[in-house]
Amino acid sequence: MKDIAPGHSNVVPAGRVFRGSDRRATLREGLQGCGEYGHSQTAGRFYPIACVALEVTQRCNLDCTLCYLSDRAEMTYDPPLSVLFARLATIHSHYGPGVSVQLTGGDPTLRKVEDLEALCREIRRLGMRSCLMTNGIRASRAFLSRLAAAGLDDVAFHVDMTQERKGFDSEIELNTVRRNYIVAAHGLGLRILFNTTVFDGNLSDLPALARFMRDQPEIAFVSFQMQADTGRGVLRERPDSITQSSVMRAVEQGYGTPLHFDAAAVGHSGCNRYASVLTAGGRAISVLSHQRLVQQVIAALEQMDRSADAYLDTRDSVRRLVLRRPGLALRAAAHLAGCVLRLGMGLLRGRVRRQAVFIHNFMAADALEEDRCASCVFMVATGNGPLSMCVHNAQRDLHLAMPDKVDGPMGTYWWNSAMRDLSRHPELPGLDSPEQAPIKKLKGQLRARRQNRKGKS
Ligand code: SF4
Repeated sequence: MKDIAPGHSNVVPAGRVFRGSDRRATLREGLQGCGEYGHSQTAGRFYPIACVALEVTQRCNLDCTLCYLSDRAEMTYDPPLSVLFARLATIHSHYGPGVSVQLTGGDPTLRKVEDLEALCREIRRLGMRSCLMTNGIRASRAFLSRLAAAGLDDVAFHVDMTQERKGFDSEIELNTVRRNYIVAAHGLGLRILFNTTVFDGNLSDLPALARFMRDQPEIAFVSFQMQADTGRGVLRERPDSITQSSVMRAVEQGYGTPLHFDAAAVGHSGCNRYASVLTAGGRAISVLSHQRLVQQVIAALEQMDRSADAYLDTRDSVRRLVLRRPGLALRAAAHLAGCVLRLGMGLLRGRVRRQAVFIHNFMAADALEEDRCASCVFMVATGNGPLSMCVHNAQRDLHLAMPDKVDGPMGTYWWNSAMRDLSRHPELPGLDSPEQAPIKKLKGQLRARRQNRKGKS
């Protein structure tokens, strides 16, 4: 169990200090500092951050064997909406309009749908994008319809064997669940994403799972997340068989083609690998197969970028590429047309779709690498501002106890997750010890330990 240190002294410096008017500068300098700002890099060049997680609850209706939450998660109170609105304002002031905000937890669907609607509306009002990150259990079509009407942009379903869903013995069997979730979300105007944790128990299923993802035209984004030794999960150290390389090869095997994960970078290569594919009728072709062309397009877009401190306006930039660099635009269009043609018989069986494929390599809590933390593209909103996801996971108890300050028309209030409501006083209670909690409040390692002790006595 990690101790909660007084004050903020345990916070690993994450290099996420917002400076001046160039919102991209901090990330760019972090990547430059570790030699990751090459000609293929898009982070810090076209956007100040990839996404920011807003944790709306620490509660969950599952108990995954690799859950990143704290042992104390189920003993905490949900942040009041005023706290979440204040965090949204902070995200907006750091990264500006265009940033993707992940409504996450725990499982966010355990909150009232009205709360999530209010958050979606506020995110939309601030010009940011919203993504609901859920295990899908409570995300019915009616639920998703309400959020879509309130402005939700994306829904990301987390489904895999670490969740130990009853009646499912393999990733392949879980495809029934995935299909049901796709049906629930399809046609609501939401982009559909899928997250999978890669661990020893599903590594051999990965090619077949990747093939399933490839063959679902409704899915826009697929993320494979490598086992990380952090949080309350009972599985700990990553086995040697799981490396970025072994996961990339398994995913390529499933897609049935090389995916060129090195052609375009999204942040640090030790953290993220990105591929972009066109799919149709059970075939896939990598869009990034011509690295030199990719780099030339990146350089040209950078030159023409007028929104230089926030998010690249892709449509505007492409329009200007066509007007000002017609030769390059023509070569890029010819390359894309070639990719479409190479889909061959797939074109007769289905429509052409684009899919993004990510491999995320989260760090173990006791092995954070400073350069990767300083160039992180995946942040969490805390009461103290945005922080690298891996740093946050390593220090969850500290951040659960840390106060949020909320300024309102009636004055200043304070809150931490040991409190149901806001307080007028900055002195806040500490978190209860999970050792004292009733077993129904425990998940992960602590429950396993308590049950083991019971079994022995
Ligand atoms: S990892 Fe599993 S248990 Fe943890 S919050 Fe996500 S779905 Fe819930």
